[in-house]
Amino acid sequence: MTTTKPTSSTRTETGYRPGPDGLLLEVDDLHVEFHTEEGVAHAINGVNFDLRAGETLAILGESGSGKSVTAQAIMGILDMPPARIPKGEIRYCGQNLLTMPEDQRRRTRGPEISMIFQDALSSLNPVFPVGWQIAEMFRKHRGTNKSDAQANAIRLMERVQIPGAKDRVKAYPHQFSGGMRQRIMIAMAIALDPAVLIADEPTTALDVTVQAQIMNLLAELQEERQMGLILITHDLGVVADVADRIAVMYAGRIMERADVYELYAKPAHPYTLGLLESIPRLDQKGQELAAIGGLPPNLLRLPQGCEFHPRCRFAQDVCRADRPELREVAPGRLSACHFAQEVLHRG
Ligand code: ADP
Ligand code: MG
Repeated sequence: MTTTKPTSSTRTETGYRPGPDGLLLEVDDLHVEFHTEEGVAHAINGVNFDLRAGETLAILGESGSGKSVTAQAIMGILDMPPARIPKGEIRYCGQNLLTMPEDQRRRTRGPEISMIFQDALSSLNPVFPVGWQIAEMFRKHRGTNKSDAQANAIRLMERVQIPGAKDRVKAYPHQFSGGMRQRIMIAMAIALDPAVLIADEPTTALDVTVQAQIMNLLAELQEERQMGLILITHDLGVVADVADRIAVMYAGRIMERADVYELYAKPAHPYTLGLLESIPRLDQKGQELAAIGGLPPNLLRLPQGCEFHPRCRFAQDVCRADRPELREVAPGRLSACHFAQEVLHRG
């Protein structure tokens, strides 16, 4: 990728500067727990990853694996309580967001780190025109006057390919289709030119053809603006074409991290292997889907040893006793499995 956007490499406007190689975000040993009536739910149990400008990282995992909680922790929108972050750091351009004063942190939300949610309908305000809602980003954060903010909103609506943007700027959310509403959410999320964009299952609520269009739009915008994009999904098929790297989550941990092609070709964790086997393939029509047997663990009482061992076909005694750390198992390959080599080189 050769195009560089001046603001994401220097960020002079805001004073944040990426580290070497465009390093933007470092999530380091993140832990999140929820204090509930039934006890403490250990939702995030030591998550590690980083993100650079111009890079797309996919976070993949079954429902309940902690993807959204991780995103919410980065955005700083977890309700605390019931959430608590007992351990870990989230550094943006070298600064720990978790210890930053709230007013400073609030100013990172939007211009530095921005997020798109799964459900565009409930994220938009039904009583205001969409153009007004986009323009509000400029008025609120930049003090832009009304007519310039409106002009910016129209330009953004055109950029996210909303047909007839000029005429529809005054329309209300319910007058748009699901796909068009998601485009409006994307316009709002990129309005202030964020360095990091987190998209949490941005296409799950949409039908398949619209899914592909939205995914392509996100990929285009990421490339054009050299954003660091975190793409959260439970669907491996959705991210194959757009992600550079993948982090696979299970029970609030990263089980495997790799370059997307290597992970697809040769998974190094039994959980990833199970996810890959559960993708329906065109050449296997009629064959039974190999879903991973068993259920995700109870976060109130995580199993001893490896969190995945009760569902794992590779499990041995050591897996029931020792929790494997995420470690390098081949060049550029990380896996939290005692038998990563066996999985990687299986026959
Ligand atoms: P997903 O990977 O599907 O996005 P989440 O990150 O939403 O999963 O959730 C991870 C776990 O944290 C789930 O078991 C969920 O029930 C739990 N969790 C999330 N928010 C809360 C909350 N406010 N109170 C208690 N538990 C929560
Ligand atoms: Mg989620």
